Amino acid sequence: MPTHDLLQGLAVFERGWLSSNNLLIHAAPGEPGALLVDTGHVDHAPQTVALVRDALAGRPLARVVNTHLHSDHCGGNAALARAFGVPVAVPPGQADAVRAWDEDALSYRATGQRIARFGVDALLAPGEAFVAGGREWEVLAAPGHDPHSVMLLDRAHGVLVSADALWEHGFGVVFPELTGESGFDDVAAVLETIASLPLKAVIPGHGAPFGDVATALARARARIAGFKADPARHARHALKVLVKYHLMEERAQALDALLDWAEAAPLMAALWQRFPPPGVATRRAWLLQVLEELAAAGALARDGDQVRDLP
Ligand SMILES: [Zn+2]
Repeated sequence: MPTHDLLQGLAVFERGWLSSNNLLIHAAPGEPGALLVDTGHVDHAPQTVALVRDALAGRPLARVVNTHLHSDHCGGNAALARAFGVPVAVPPGQADAVRAWDEDALSYRATGQRIARFGVDALLAPGEAFVAGGREWEVLAAPGHDPHSVMLLDRAHGVLVSADALWEHGFGVVFPELTGESGFDDVAAVLETIASLPLKAVIPGHGAPFGDVATALARARARIAGFKADPARHARHALKVLVKYHLMEERAQALDALLDWAEAAPLMAALWQRFPPPGVATRRAWLLQVLEELAAAGALARDGDQVRDLP
């Protein structure tokens, strides 16, 4: 079956990197309304509301669910819940942290990322299933990138909503490994779970939906093996991702303010402690080196005192 048939009734809003993709599962006859998977970054929330409103064309939205609670996946939750008056369901692992709005237990303080507080109305628990768009969706645990993340599987059509566990070219930073917990083995195990599924299409958390799952899995397996063999390389990759993400949030920032942010974010301190780069004396020097590497890769530009994000 061609991909457009497999994805019938599913609207994928491909957003980029600051915002995750959003998947709108249009309601089948008899269902109370559409379901939205992930809501993007808080800075894009008005745009997300507009995209959803446009795609619904007057029909109701019934529910918002999150694959996991990183700021690029749930930043629009509050705006969507307000705009459409709908409940929000999250994976169970961090539901209490959301209810108490514990920004330490959630990742927002550690990473120094922006978010708008939202509420939890229901859980999306691994092992359960629900019907949306006339399809049955199984909730699968997908620890690794985030210990509490889930994926959604429409087994009958072979469609997987993989979040950040598998992209066409890679997967999300393995955050537990940055703070001394294990994550690489979880990533590898989830890749094997994905390999065992009868898949025809994957809707990732970032990038376009893809059908060549075997090639994506081969790339991801090689990547996780490389990180496992050299955790310091993964840590440096993570540092670049965090700095780039921050610059996407800020768009442009004075160098001193950027360095202050990096010095204040606890995850940066943890990276410096756990993976001290050889031959670099200070955190500031280390950050400057990383900024230079990001500039050389075309990810940012230095204009005098200003550091500017390059899309
Ligand atoms: Zn994520």
